[in-house]
Amino acid sequence: MNSVTLNEIQRFSFDNTNVRGERVLLSSAYQEIIKRKQYPLSLEKLLGEFVAAIALLRDIVKIDGVLSIQAKGNGFLSTLMTECDELQNLRGIVQWDESQAVPEVISLKEVLDGGYLAITIQPRNGQRYQGIVEIVGDTLAECLEQYFSQSEQLPSRVWLAANGSQCGGLFLQRLPQEQAKVEDEDAWERLTHLASTVKEEELLGLETAVLLHRLYHEEDVRLYDIKTMQFGCSCSRQRTLDAVMSLGSEEIRELLIEQGSVNVDCQFCAEKYHFTETDLIDLLGDQAKTH
Ligand SMILES: [Zn+2]
Repeated sequence: MNSVTLNEIQRFSFDNTNVRGERVLLSSAYQEIIKRKQYPLSLEKLLGEFVAAIALLRDIVKIDGVLSIQAKGNGFLSTLMTECDELQNLRGIVQWDESQAVPEVISLKEVLDGGYLAITIQPRNGQRYQGIVEIVGDTLAECLEQYFSQSEQLPSRVWLAANGSQCGGLFLQRLPQEQAKVEDEDAWERLTHLASTVKEEELLGLETAVLLHRLYHEEDVRLYDIKTMQFGCSCSRQRTLDAVMSLGSEEIRELLIEQGSVNVDCQFCAEKYHFTETDLIDLLGDQAKTH
């Protein structure tokens, strides 16, 4: 199969049913994220599933702001997080215990060992909201299905895949009954059954219209506007400076004595931030006064 070079998400629905869906397929946006570190393939795949998932979630939870999924646990993954803002900028990272062998097939339950997922909605104006998702199965898709059934109380199904070049996802949700004009009774069963026949190479290799035609050629599928997504990092000099200042004046003074400056590399995009004593000294003075 040819490899596709798309970075897009598209919503769809089925006429005469309450069922809606989303499909995401990412190429360079995903490659930009995983090339920041030397990831073993299984971690590239895991991160890819998280990136596809945040893209889907971003389009379902329509807020003006930033949405993130963060996995927390006691296993060998110390950090696993992805983020997407309202302009479809995606970023993500995995950090793990590099002294341990990385499994070739990753079970989320095992690598997070008693951990959980935190889904955070940070509106541009408004209060931050965090939902906690238990790790109910081995895959992220299972955890997200659990999240939707709890937070939205709507039956939802998720399929995710990633291969180190592409990542993709498919989402189906059954909306409350009253929103449909007429619904044939077994629509949800039938449509989710057909979706569950999707192969990884189809999820990662076919344009959305082609994929949906292959799965649903006997259904009336309505496709909505395509939205383009891209890699984008929300770091800035000011945000990095705020993080440096949060170390406290004592630690910053020590760093200045040891290194002559404070240097921070963004973990997501590798941007380098360099703060000299002159950049920091006035702020340190202020901090000393206020504390
Ligand atoms: Zn950055």
